[in-house]
Amino acid sequence: MRKVSAAQFQYAKLTPIWLLMTIFQCFSSPQYFAPLPDRHPFPMNKFIDSARRLVEDGTLLPSEIIDPGLIAEEDLLRVHTREYVHSIGNGNYYGLTKRKLGLPWSPELNIRSRTAAAGTMRATEAAAQYGISCNLAGGTHHAFPDHGEGYCVFNDIAIAVKKLHLSAPATKVLIVDLDAHQGNGTHFILGKEERVFTFSMHVGVNYPSQKIPGTEDIELERYVQGDTYLEKLQETLPHILAQFEPDRVFYIAGVDVHKDDRFGQMSLTTTDMAQRDSFVISSARKQKLPLVVVYGGGYNRHAQVTTELHCQTVRIAKQHSN
Ligand SMILES: [Zn+2]
Repeated sequence: MRKVSAAQFQYAKLTPIWLLMTIFQCFSSPQYFAPLPDRHPFPMNKFIDSARRLVEDGTLLPSEIIDPGLIAEEDLLRVHTREYVHSIGNGNYYGLTKRKLGLPWSPELNIRSRTAAAGTMRATEAAAQYGISCNLAGGTHHAFPDHGEGYCVFNDIAIAVKKLHLSAPATKVLIVDLDAHQGNGTHFILGKEERVFTFSMHVGVNYPSQKIPGTEDIELERYVQGDTYLEKLQETLPHILAQFEPDRVFYIAGVDVHKDDRFGQMSLTTTDMAQRDSFVISSARKQKLPLVVVYGGGYNRHAQVTTELHCQTVRIAKQHSN
């Protein structure tokens, strides 16, 4: 089993006065980790490592990283079936989860999944208050109501959107999903929802083999270059913002679009990805749309590059905070 040392900084235990002073809130937790067998392809360490690095390099103050705690079961049950939620709680995987999740069960996996989903929900509240917020995890867009797929246990954005619509039913939500893979689970859950627009740019011939249509899907050639990718993004996103007129934006800043990723099959450079993140984040911020940024996938041949690319996204988000 792979081991990770405990985070060497304190997650914020915020008093109300600190909450008032903290205008860029990111969510992370020592529980954003579950043990995996040696040589498992999922880079589980990236969540805690990126949080630590962002503090060490001065991007974030320790007080800007907040532990979201565990999500309430009722929040999960707005999206997921009771049977599925309980199977993740007790480890009795069944049906498609057994074949498609790709993560072995452990008590820590259950806690991790519930904490990371809470992070996106809390970031949604923080974005409403402060304009922009990051969950240093999330973007688990392959999770379906009754099963997990592709390393995704609970669909954090769908959960956050359902919760948001409880208190503000008229809210129009745009999900910009720039992970290299299509968010089939999110499309299944929210596809018929008129208040939600899903925009995805992904590789056409890649996982998931069976795509589920979203509102606007751009299927790219394998190993697409950065200039072609950025051109498509820059011509499409402004139209969507102008025509749909969202009230909120969620951005899955998947880093598996990098040229050295093992699964993404795209050819973007680190610089291309900085341009991508800056374009999406500044487009939302210029219109003063509350924006939630989440990680999505990343499986670089060099594990530290995955972590660094997620950090790059958060640094750009920080630059666009108030
Ligand atoms: Zn992906």
